[in-house]
This record gives sequence, C-alpha cells and structure tokens, in this order.
Amino acid sequence: MGPKRIFNFNAGPAALPQTVLEEIQREFLDFKGSGMSITEVSHRSKWFDDVINDAVARTKRLLNLDDRYQVLFLQGGASMQFCMIPMNFLAEGRTADYVNTGTWATKAIKEAKILGKKIQVVASSEDRNFAYIPKDIAFTPDATYVHLTSNNTIKGTQWAQFPDTGNVPLIADMSSDIFSRPFDAGRFGLFYAGAQKNMGPAGVCLVVVRDDLLALTPDNIPTMLKYTTHSEKNSMFNTPPCFAIYTAQLVLKWLEETVGGLDKMAQLNRQKADLLYNHIDGSGFYRGTADKDSRSLMNVTFRLPDEALEKKFVAEASAAELGGLKGHRSVGGCRASIYNPTPLRAVEALVDFMKTFESRNG
Ligand SMILES: *Cc1c(COP(=O)(O)O)cnc(C)c1O
Repeated sequence: MGPKRIFNFNAGPAALPQTVLEEIQREFLDFKGSGMSITEVSHRSKWFDDVINDAVARTKRLLNLDDRYQVLFLQGGASMQFCMIPMNFLAEGRTADYVNTGTWATKAIKEAKILGKKIQVVASSEDRNFAYIPKDIAFTPDATYVHLTSNNTIKGTQWAQFPDTGNVPLIADMSSDIFSRPFDAGRFGLFYAGAQKNMGPAGVCLVVVRDDLLALTPDNIPTMLKYTTHSEKNSMFNTPPCFAIYTAQLVLKWLEETVGGLDKMAQLNRQKADLLYNHIDGSGFYRGTADKDSRSLMNVTFRLPDEALEKKFVAEASAAELGGLKGHRSVGGCRASIYNPTPLRAVEALVDFMKTFESRNG
C-alpha cells in the first residue's frame, strides 16, 4: 500500500502534483549524480544554475513572454510585493490606480499608503462584501500602473477578462491563479505570485517585470527591495530559496510536459469548476457566495443553510479524507480550492460527498 494521500482542497500552501512529489523523493539524496541533496548544493553550482534557468525558460514559454520581460524568484512572499511595487515605480509626482476586490487588494493599497505614495482606489466591491468584480471603471489616463488582484482567494471571485486600461500597464497579484489559464502578458508591466497556491511550496514569489518599469527603479531605496538588484543577478544577489525554486521548476515541467500547456490546463480547470458550481446551483441546499459572472475557477466559496451545518460539513468531509474545506476565518462558510494540481477525481469525490451530506441533512 502506498502512503496515505487525502483529497486536498487547502487554499495555500496547497496540493502539489503527486508525480512532482515523487520526483523530489526519488532524487532527494542524490541530485543528478551530485551525491548531494538539492538542499545541500551551492546556489552558485551548475546544478542549481540549471534548475533556475530551466524555471525561467519554462515560465517564458508557458506565458509567451517576449525579451522585454524578466522572470525573478524573490523572497518575502506576495506580501512583499505590496510595498516593493510602489517603492520602485512611484517616484515623486507619479500616481497609480488600484482596484479593491478583497482582502489582498486591501493590503496592497495599505502598503502604498504607508509609503505616502499618491494612489487612487478607482473601484471597489466592498459595498457587497467583495462578492463581485467591478465593471466600467474610469482609470486615470496618466497613471503609472493599474494594480489589481486577478483572483481573490478568500472571497472566491476572479477577473474573467482584464479591464482595458489604455496605455497604462497592468500590475497584477496573480498568487492564486498564475498558470491556471492563458492570458495576454503583453498588457502587463509586472505580475507576481506567491508560489504556494498554484505553482509550488511556500518560500518563493514569482515576479515577472517588463523593462520599461524596471527603468523607473530609483537608487535611493534599500538594495534588497530594488527590482534591479535581483534582475541584474538572475535572482541570485543573495542566497535564493533553492528548494522552493526547484519544486516550482518541477511543477512548471509538469505543466508543460504532462498537462500540455496552459490551454489544456484552463480546459481542465473549467471542467472542475463547472462540476462544482453546477452542483451548488442545482441543489437549493448549498449557496455560492460570489456573483455568477465574477466566480473564481480556483476558489469555490459556498454556504450551507446555517453555521452548525457548515461546521458539521467540514468535520465529516475531513473524516472522509476531503481536507481544507473550511472558509477563510475572516468570512466563514466553506471553500474548496481547486488549483491546477487538484485532479478532476478529487472534485468528483467532493460532489459525491456533498450529495450524500445533503441527503442526510437537507
Ligand atoms: C495568499 C495570497 C497572498 C499572500 O501571499 P504571501 O506569499 O503569504 O505573502 C497575496 N495575494 C493573494 C491573492 C493571495 O492569495
């Protein structure tokens, strides 16, 4: 019998492809004939160089990035980007637009304000507890960038299409939907993603940044918080999070070679989300919390008729080896995170469980 593996719906850190975990296990004691673990080799060695260069190359291929883009692997999580972005790009006299679609967007706005930067919140869905993505937004034509959160992990909403911002580059926090679908990267000046949702373990944040924005980086900010420090050294100004980058590289390889790229990934993600939302909509017992046209394909948030039933649902699901279904502590309810690595059969098992639970409690 193999090791126990549950159906894992955690929001982050989250499920990884099992084949990736097995590959890590296989080469853990002797990485590529080095006689060392990847956690023991120098980050200046050829072994690690190959890992990070492959991760960069796969990112560029998967997202069709042209030569203007740099792919960086940084520390400090997605949360560090909340301050780095305004610090690097909003010199005196510059302004930026922010769209507030939930907890993470609110935090990004807060950091820009702490720094005393001039930003406008041009749209917000706070009036209905962030249950939707705002439409028809009037952006500031001479803003340096527009910041948005592509997928709202906690509230369960996602931008189906990115808004037209004219000549102003988009900057997006894509922590919970990076590599889940193809998108036109050319409209972005920068996008970033903490790895632990959809592309790896905690400890590294992917940052993709375009040269016109890199050129704005001022001299008078701390070295470690300057994008150019990292772009000039292939993310190895200081010791990078080697193990997290290595795991992300294997996930990117899995995406390209096993899944077959982002179109295929998007199809599968759509299939998983449809299965779950169709069941929720047809039941009368479960109720989705996000507006239908704003629903996330990654984080499916729903309620049951009352909180006692929600507690029972999460406990019984967990006993049936369906883990991580409790909603974020700030909103309550239930949430199934169905990121790239979550297989269709996990969602099928969840829907079966939901049917049984409803028939016993509905
Ligand atoms: C989880 C999450 C973050 C925070 O990421 P850290 O890596 O923990 O800083 C930021 N934004 C979104 C959309 C997230 O889902």
